[in-house]
Amino acid sequence: MTDNHAHIVENIRTVRKNMDAVLQGRQNATLVAVSKYKPADDIKAAYEGADQKHFGENYVQELVEKSEILPRDIAWHFIGNLQSNKCKVVAAIPNLYAVETIESSKKADSLNKACIQVSRESKINVFVQINTSGEESKSGAEPSACVEIAKHIVDNCPQLNLLGLMTIGAPDRDGSEGENPDFVCLRECKSKVEQAIPGLSLELSMGMSADYQEALAAGSTNIRVGSTIFGSRPPKQ
Ligand SMILES: *Cc1c(COP(=O)(O)O)cnc(C)c1O
Repeated sequence: MTDNHAHIVENIRTVRKNMDAVLQGRQNATLVAVSKYKPADDIKAAYEGADQKHFGENYVQELVEKSEILPRDIAWHFIGNLQSNKCKVVAAIPNLYAVETIESSKKADSLNKACIQVSRESKINVFVQINTSGEESKSGAEPSACVEIAKHIVDNCPQLNLLGLMTIGAPDRDGSEGENPDFVCLRECKSKVEQAIPGLSLELSMGMSADYQEALAAGSTNIRVGSTIFGSRPPKQ
């Protein structure tokens, strides 16, 4: 094992320890190792050395290439912007576990239709992405639209399984203003959706390298951690 790969394994163990320290057995949370821009070898090291199963990717082409050469029991999370014309390619990945970035009913329809077109055997878990910080630059639905989109998925998209809500949040929260408003907002959306759809229990995908512990304390059940595990990435092209 290379030094870099040994570090990746160690970093995952550290993140898991930190998760346990916050959760103390109160609830379970999924650690999604975000591997965008990182070579398949790095993912393999995490998979083999730390038994890591959930990985997140932002770009369709990268996800397709990696999923073809990496073990079939990896649970892939697509966490990037999903264009309608890419839904079929994504739906055809058999071990795609979840699409975390459904931001409209229309996008849900596209993905649902794509599943039928490619004769996908299993449902795709989806998270509705909410723009909790109200920034123009962030994708995601308005918080006020969460119930409508959730209902649409449950009622009209039989190939999709509504698993939860997701937010990216503002990058510059410093923690001095009390609980992170993005986390509070996503939790409020979850309550509204669960009230509107009896029997539904939603996950919360929130928290990244800088704030995953805070996110877990705020109720996150799915954290997306990239640079803390795999090291820094080249700047966005
Ligand atoms: C890149 C990315 C992450 C991981 O970010 P880090 O700060 O490196 O942990 C998480 N979520 C989304 C949606 C991302 O695009």
